[in-house]
Amino acid sequence: MKAKQIKIDGKTYKLLYLNSIKHKGCSISGLVDTKKRIIKINKSRSPSVKRYVLAHEIYHVKDKGKWGGTLGAETRATFYCGLRDPIGMFKTAFTGNIFKGIKNFFKIYIFK
Ligand SMILES: [Zn+2]
Repeated sequence: MKAKQIKIDGKTYKLLYLNSIKHKGCSISGLVDTKKRIIKINKSRSPSVKRYVLAHEIYHVKDKGKWGGTLGAETRATFYCGLRDPIGMFKTAFTGNIFKGIKNFFKIYIFK
């Protein structure tokens, strides 16, 4: 497990590329832990997915928005990064099984 370090808003974050990332039993492309300052990226995904997911997780760290809770935070990160990298966003959204992705989203964020 090799760890890179990146600076976001003057704070050092550990960047880990892992073979698989599970969150609440679901396989996901990336995750940020702002308390532990760790960003995890699923290295089995394609380069454009990894690029988009990293930008998305960095946006979560920088995000100052407060509305909408987790759903609002995901909406902001997805639109902000998606406008700059639409190919990465679509590839991330359609990686694997889109229905599984939607199911995971509800399992993780809506029925927590
Ligand atoms: Zn997110």
